[in-house]
Amino acid sequence: MSAPRKIGLFGGTFDPVHLGHIHLAAVTRDALDLDEVRFIPCPISPHKAGTPPASGADRCEMLRIATADLQWAVVDDCELRRSAPAYSYLTVETMAAQFPAARLVWMLGGDQWDALPRWQNPGRLAELVEFAVLSRGNLTESREGYRLHVIQGDHPASATEIRSAISNGTENHEWLDPTVAEWIREKSLYCPP
Ligand code: ATP
Repeated sequence: MSAPRKIGLFGGTFDPVHLGHIHLAAVTRDALDLDEVRFIPCPISPHKAGTPPASGADRCEMLRIATADLQWAVVDDCELRRSAPAYSYLTVETMAAQFPAARLVWMLGGDQWDALPRWQNPGRLAELVEFAVLSRGNLTESREGYRLHVIQGDHPASATEIRSAISNGTENHEWLDPTVAEWIREKSLYCPP
């Protein structure tokens, strides 16, 4: 019997996708021998403080550009197409139905692992997935009932800092894929009106 397919599920705002996200996806894929990594951008409230966020379509396009050469990467806009709230456990229930024989691995940074108990229905999520956590300088503590893989390797990139630098006039930010940076410049994303 062949081994079950291993699918990494990587949710986030990706506003914009940066080299830290790609790093997390690549090291997790290598460490756990994943067959594919699905990048799943989530809806963002337009009322979020700071610069207005990029649209879902723009965030998807930046993800497609950044992952164009990665055979194992898939950009999945399922959460952007939902009319109901895009809770991660609901997304994973859909994935589990779509790929019933697969092992599902939810990928996240250490900051989000710490925040996980405050997510909607984390227990249901934990029933359906294994977690792969890339430490962001903090200790990753295990949790009863959660299947956890701790992935070594940090990356300094921050989307908040990138947006702030661009709004202050930076072009070609070092944490951006150069093609994504060019696309942001052409669309004048994250620039003050
Ligand atoms: P922001 O600064 O706007 O909060 P972010 O990149 O932290 O941006 P998301 O795009 O939602 O936020 O991140 C998606 C996932 O990637 C999260 O699980 C986050 O913890 C993880 N992540 C983001 N940046 C890094 C990084 N530099 N190293 C490791 N993980 C990261």
